[in-house]
Amino acid sequence: MQDKDINKSKLFSGVKDFRENYYVHHKDIYKKLKISQQPHTLFIGCSDSRVVPNLITKSLPGELFIIRNIANLVPYYKDTHDTYVSTSAAIEFAVKALNVNNIIVCGHSNCGGCKALFSTKISKQLPLTQKWLELTGDVKERVMRKIETEQLKPSFKYRLTEQLNVVEQMNHLLTFPYIRERYDRGEITILGWHYVIETGEVFNYSAEKQAFERIE
Ligand SMILES: [Zn+2]
Repeated sequence: MQDKDINKSKLFSGVKDFRENYYVHHKDIYKKLKISQQPHTLFIGCSDSRVVPNLITKSLPGELFIIRNIANLVPYYKDTHDTYVSTSAAIEFAVKALNVNNIIVCGHSNCGGCKALFSTKISKQLPLTQKWLELTGDVKERVMRKIETEQLKPSFKYRLTEQLNVVEQMNHLLTFPYIRERYDRGEITILGWHYVIETGEVFNYSAEKQAFERIE
């Protein structure tokens, strides 16, 4: 059997196993969720296969409304409705229709999207990805300046990019007027996280300390 066939049969047996085991043990939750959802949190994470929002927050179905895209980016707010904007539409729905209490922007270690900012190869091979990554704003330039002025090791640049990018995207969220209003009234909390794949740790951004602190 070829690899692709093995992977396909793994997916099918996974579906069967879910229905026969996991679902059976959590039947009540699924019955409750039959008609509607009331998620408390909008989770904006990277599409990276290693970042699994429900797993790292130990959340059940119905708790997280999830947006995943390359490098966990948030577009700037635009008052136009003439294009197809997946991420912005999902943000609008989560905040205005579902009234979530929290928004988490979650970056992660070894993020290919953040790394790509420093690559020259990407422009020709992945033009849509390159365009999308413009939403990181001037994060790359800020990282390079910080490394120079604070004389940090060049190897810090990727982690620093992942973290500054999270803060940048938190700021993009506040360009949405209906988020800004709810945020100013204390009705919504915006959190910035950095998840480290190899240790299982999640670091939460403290605006006061301008640093990421491990969630204990
Ligand atoms: Zn990533």
